[in-house]
Amino acid sequence: MTEVISQRRIRAVDAALRERARAVIPGGMYGHLSANGLPPEYPQFYARAERAHVWDVDGNEYVDFMCSFGPVLLGHKHPKVEAAVAAQLARGDTMSGPGAAMVEAAELLTDRVAHADWAMFAKNGTDATTISLMIARAATGRSKVLAAAGAYHGAAPWFTMRDAGVTPEDRANLRYYTFNDIASVEEAVAAAGGDVAGIIVSPYRHDAGFDQELVDAGFARQLRALCDRIGAALIMDEVRAGFRLNDGGSWEPIGVAPDLSAWSKAIGNGYPLAAVLGAGRYADAATQIFVTGSFWYQAVPMAAAVATITAVRDEGAVPAMVKTGTLLREGLAAAAADAGVAITQTGPVQMPNLSFPGDENYARAAAFCARAVDHGVIFHPRHNWFVSAAHTQADVERAVAAAREGFRAVRERFGES
Ligand code: PMP
Repeated sequence: MTEVISQRRIRAVDAALRERARAVIPGGMYGHLSANGLPPEYPQFYARAERAHVWDVDGNEYVDFMCSFGPVLLGHKHPKVEAAVAAQLARGDTMSGPGAAMVEAAELLTDRVAHADWAMFAKNGTDATTISLMIARAATGRSKVLAAAGAYHGAAPWFTMRDAGVTPEDRANLRYYTFNDIASVEEAVAAAGGDVAGIIVSPYRHDAGFDQELVDAGFARQLRALCDRIGAALIMDEVRAGFRLNDGGSWEPIGVAPDLSAWSKAIGNGYPLAAVLGAGRYADAATQIFVTGSFWYQAVPMAAAVATITAVRDEGAVPAMVKTGTLLREGLAAAAADAGVAITQTGPVQMPNLSFPGDENYARAAAFCARAVDHGVIFHPRHNWFVSAAHTQADVERAVAAAREGFRAVRERFGES
């Protein structure tokens, strides 16, 4: 049966595009959306998307549990977001100044995110984390920033995942601590000799390729107290998790407020926008730095953000994702148990992470995901997945059915575990 389905998923157009791309795009494709490191069953190029479904350039349809690695929160082509985009597009997008939607987006974000008194906008998550660091430095007059070892905060030279093209000076002001380990933060602060402008942290440990770790509320509170004691900014990287964990700041349910927060991905439901949100006492520093971009003030993504953030509340997007994510987690657990394959599921259910204990080089994960792709479901072998508010119970059922095939593939290749 698998064989028959595999044969249906012909990828001649994708193969031809990959070949043309190799001639004119370094590596044929780069970055996190590159299919180069994925099993050959994955398509590289997509033709269209609707709600929780995507179609590759050969016309194959999939239930998509990557959501473009986060940006798609309400599902592709959400009617209210698309209406706001069309209306703004008819009036203008890249103009010689921002539209009214910039002020509306800032009002809405500062209303929804408790710690925020002001908002600045940019394009990508990397812009938002980098600007946050600059504001922390301008505010404190200090240089060093502490980050959790293994975390990802962007692709600028101060943080990109590889060393190629980066100088030691680019990273000279970074110091590392261990997530959920306040003693390690204290040690990093001591090693920095008091020169700490800020401490950047993710809402939970979502490092790619590892089991995920939720934040310990005690750690969050101690981090806040430590920042207050040493006069450093607590910077929350909400780029990946923002508005998926909570309708507001991700640490609001545990009562810990950052000074600055960096957002992007989901705030415009796929339209390109990033935001830095800050507490009032950082507003002066925010006006001192110079940051800008040719496309940062486009009105269309701002209008998309207003519609998206409004819909997150009106449509109960977070509880919807929790419900669907819970169904998926339970379905995967049952399917793995039936197949006699051991799995580990970690992270919030809206951002599922599945791994196989002792999985060297992600070989089991790759076999699992390849078979799932053959059965019309996109997961990822080394990165957390994303549930959107558009995923239905039927989508989850299809995902679990594909996962059953995936677990069977693991069992066939690697035996019972
Ligand atoms: N921070 C986190 C936690 C991220 O997940 C990402 C993107 N994966 C970034 C920052 C960088 O965002 P962008 O790719 O939009 O620059």
